[in-house]
Amino acid sequence: MKGHNSEGSCVYGLCGGTFHKTTAPSRSLSRPGQLTRNDARAGTFGFGSTPSVVLDYTLPYETPIDILHNAAEGIYSTIMSELLPNSRNHPRKSDLFQCDHSIHSKLCESVFVPLQYKITRMSSGSEKITVSAELSVVWLIRSFQYFRMNCGLAALVNPSLKPYARLSILSLMLITNQLYSNSSKGDKFFEHMTSAARWTLETASKTYMTTKVHELVSHLPEVITMFGNVACLSTFSFEHFYKYCLKGFNAQKTKGFSESALKRVFLHSAVRREIRNRLEYYPSKTITDFLKVTPQWDIMKVNWKSRILQLKPEDAVPEIKNVELFSVLNLPYGKLTSTYKKEYPSDIFFGKTSSGFHSCFRFVGVGIKDQNTIVLAERIRSINPALQFPLVQKEIEEMAHPANTYGSNVLFHLKRYSGLVHGRCSGEMEVLNINDIKGLGAYLRHGDATYYLQVNGAFVHN
Ligand SMILES: [Zn+2]
Repeated sequence: MKGHNSEGSCVYGLCGGTFHKTTAPSRSLSRPGQLTRNDARAGTFGFGSTPSVVLDYTLPYETPIDILHNAAEGIYSTIMSELLPNSRNHPRKSDLFQCDHSIHSKLCESVFVPLQYKITRMSSGSEKITVSAELSVVWLIRSFQYFRMNCGLAALVNPSLKPYARLSILSLMLITNQLYSNSSKGDKFFEHMTSAARWTLETASKTYMTTKVHELVSHLPEVITMFGNVACLSTFSFEHFYKYCLKGFNAQKTKGFSESALKRVFLHSAVRREIRNRLEYYPSKTITDFLKVTPQWDIMKVNWKSRILQLKPEDAVPEIKNVELFSVLNLPYGKLTSTYKKEYPSDIFFGKTSSGFHSCFRFVGVGIKDQNTIVLAERIRSINPALQFPLVQKEIEEMAHPANTYGSNVLFHLKRYSGLVHGRCSGEMEVLNINDIKGLGAYLRHGDATYYLQVNGAFVHN
């Protein structure tokens, strides 16, 4: 529909350019409500000559950004392919992301991520080329997770990355990690992060500003003000489902289309609900066998196993004396395994301290005390703020205006954002209530400290 995205506007603003957009005032501020409807009727401010009926019901800027599509199919995939050695099939838009590929790949591979996010061979790029169209959604989701965790943490320390490329990757990865975790952030977080990403990309080449990228880096803050966490509204995870519901239909079919498609939606939802009910109230062998091969249909449960026979003296605290502890904890959003179970554990999580602060922890064990499920964990503390993110800090000091302003904003939020900790294990043991765990962590060891990143915690499907 012209006016929603034309040479004179985008969905959200009066932004020019057909293929590569330039940011202009947003429509909700400059042409609010009735003014936009008048524009549509008059065919002005980006609208075409035929007014659209949909404007009687809703306005173009009242649209959430599907951030996972915009990011995964937009700038995330562009950056990932430009970080790889250049090829004739994928010419770079600029030399911004040119770096020593082997260093970056090695750093990405050394990032530890929780089991459900583990991806191999992603940085080789071969997977994208050989993957079938049907698997492309799965590939996009995996590539999205890889960018926000592995590639994002690697960008903090890769010395071969150009300073503007680093700012660009860090601001973009922080945006989606915040939406995935709901971790607390500083004022104007989305404004500062999107401006830094937009400026670094636009400075390198205007051709980065495709519609998907433009919407993300120019309009995300106002969309979040309007709708809250838009990642929860993404259609990404439902893509398989709606493809199944529309299977076998052709675009010309108009008669009975919605009846037929909706029948599949209702049938599929009813079958899922019935299986869950039976599992809960009549868990027959047939149902439990069925769930063994379809574990994703199982009800999310909290449970634990693997008893810890003897706690090390450094892990013991008086509060858990005589409490039986276990080293594996299954949570609806992931699994924690401590060093008592595995040499290479999956034990980093973020949660609330007894004094109410959002903090990072190393999981040791879980047990029952006074009818409460408690977790024994070691606190991970940040290093001295003046020494945090040294590479970013050093590069910003060498930048001229306006780059140093964008850079300082990114650094401020890296330090202020509670879902990212540049720190190390403190030796302080704490006892938490299980409900105080908010999300699992990924990490990258570098030098004598580690970068810990909260990877989930918000209600986002993936
Ligand atoms: Zn726009």
